Amino acid sequence: MSNLLPQPEAERCQSQPDAKPEIVSYPSRSADLGAGLTVTRALPLRQHRMVGPWCFFDYYGPLSFTDRKAMDVAPHPHIGLQTVSWLFAGEALHNDSLGTQGLVRPGELNLMTAGCGIAHSEETPPKNSGHLHGLQLWVALPEAERQRAPSFDHYRDLPVLEPGGGLAQVFMGELGDAQAHTRAFSPMVGADLKLSANSRMRLPLRAAWEHALVVIEGQVSLDGTVLAPLQLHYLGTHRSGLELVGETAVRAVLIGGAPFGESIVMWWNFVARSADEIRAAREDWEGHRRFGDVKAYQGERLKAPAFVARPVAGR
Ligand code: MN
Repeated sequence: MSNLLPQPEAERCQSQPDAKPEIVSYPSRSADLGAGLTVTRALPLRQHRMVGPWCFFDYYGPLSFTDRKAMDVAPHPHIGLQTVSWLFAGEALHNDSLGTQGLVRPGELNLMTAGCGIAHSEETPPKNSGHLHGLQLWVALPEAERQRAPSFDHYRDLPVLEPGGGLAQVFMGELGDAQAHTRAFSPMVGADLKLSANSRMRLPLRAAWEHALVVIEGQVSLDGTVLAPLQLHYLGTHRSGLELVGETAVRAVLIGGAPFGESIVMWWNFVARSADEIRAAREDWEGHRRFGDVKAYQGERLKAPAFVARPVAGR
């Protein structure tokens, strides 16, 4: 996916190493990804930029369609991050400048590690179910790994935890005893939670990590607070567990990880450390250098927006 919010300035982002256990709920915003696909963006927020290494959380659908491509994000570049594509329904086809093709379906993971630079497209494949519902998340790469060669991985075999009250499928990192053997470069968790109606789900957490929940659908509460859907609920650190109470059937996503400890700069589809790096990546994309072509995509690639090298001060 591509970040098309029309903001020319970079954002400085850092996780909060000293956050306490808390529940801070933030409203989301909408963003138009083109081809009629509108997403709900839960992260980054002006008030809150990262949760562990997670720096971007887009939610889309559920959509039903018959005669169009519900998703059609033309080739665009990334640096310094991993894109984590996770579906609840439908399918999405990834093509990249390495020549990799990856079709993702619910329960599977498309994971692209951008490293020093890659370009990709994401679209609804010609043969499709007529449904689309899912997420795209980004993970910031730590300093030691962010210039690595780009790669793409597709995973079908992801662990499922049965903590009582439902299921938790781990697509990145670890949750309790369940470890996803997906390519990761810092300690984290990304998990898809399914609670049954009238259930309680206890999940083990690492107390040193920070966590957040986004409820996709259903009525669920934590510590007596009902968690509104499609908002980022930041849970702080110092929690060794979580007890979710599902009033109805619930779908929710847990993200978290060790506080990132590095200040990143995000602009468009780039995660870097300075405005100069952003400018150089933008110029390389516009000059057809570094990123390569996505030969499998039929159509024009995305043009980089204008960049004003004045990073917004943020946490
Ligand atoms: Mn993308």
